Amino acid sequence: MKQAMLYRYKLPMDSGVILRNTRLVNRDGFIIELRDSDKIGRGEISPLPGCSLEVTDEAGAQAKTILASWLSGESIAWSSLYPSVAFGVSMALAELTNELPLTGNYLGALLCNSHPDDLMQVLAEMSGQKVAKIKVGLHEAIRDGMIVNMFLKAIPDLTLRLDANRQWTVAKAAQFAKHVNMECRSRIAFIEEPCQTIRDSLVFSQGSGIALAWDETLRDNGFFLKPYGVLKAIIIKPTLIGSLSEVKSLVTKAHEMGLDVVISSSLETSIGLNQLARLAQWLTPATIPGLDTINLFSTQLEIPWPNCTLPIMSLSDCNIVWQQSNL
Ligand SMILES: [Mg+2]
Repeated sequence: MKQAMLYRYKLPMDSGVILRNTRLVNRDGFIIELRDSDKIGRGEISPLPGCSLEVTDEAGAQAKTILASWLSGESIAWSSLYPSVAFGVSMALAELTNELPLTGNYLGALLCNSHPDDLMQVLAEMSGQKVAKIKVGLHEAIRDGMIVNMFLKAIPDLTLRLDANRQWTVAKAAQFAKHVNMECRSRIAFIEEPCQTIRDSLVFSQGSGIALAWDETLRDNGFFLKPYGVLKAIIIKPTLIGSLSEVKSLVTKAHEMGLDVVISSSLETSIGLNQLARLAQWLTPATIPGLDTINLFSTQLEIPWPNCTLPIMSLSDCNIVWQQSNL
């Protein structure tokens, strides 16, 4: 017997989570649960406000249709699905068929959200490979440059990943670079999306010697992955990309070009986040993923994230909005 269930969750966020200039009070989405005899597979469908083109209700409606097709044994037209739905359904199937390995990479790059003074302490005491991520472009470019420089100078074994979310003009980006010492720049693993266009980002990167990574660019209409000398990495957020097979082929293509691939979260719950850690260990074992986002929530869902002390809400406390079996 096959059975499919769709849960709708709503979890409160930590205060002060800002997404594309809007405060995110709750995270809202779906968990799929597929059962086939004694096997079970879950997947998360959580369109990210401001980034996903589909909204939660649209994703939910499409998920019901696809789950009904799966129950009746029809094949799934993956390319016609919203990315969040394609990812959630394909992950549930991958878990059901044991395609998704159990071991995860839970060593996230530390996301620097708090005050630089507090972080300095955490980073100084961090053991193992010290990789942290800092959002830049939210304040003055000069201030960003000074902070990045301060971290790199103070902690000699620190590697930084920066993300500017296309906030800079070429001139602003140059102001930033001017305040980062030349000898520290090689410890910036990459900066994601410094400028608004590919061309401007390349100009900045070639001029400053700071390596580049694509994130938003991967989702631009008509984009295809091309090598550039300064391009070092791509950031894959599967919820915004699509099915597992689409994610796998993008990873393969990037690796063939010698690029690093960073599997990153789109603020999934602890269920989705744990699966992303397993996906990262499977597809990109040599790279620390970008999954340090559980503390942006104030509650976990069903499956705890390692070493996280937030309370856990059970999936059985969420509404079942749809369920069917093929009996
Ligand atoms: Mg980014």
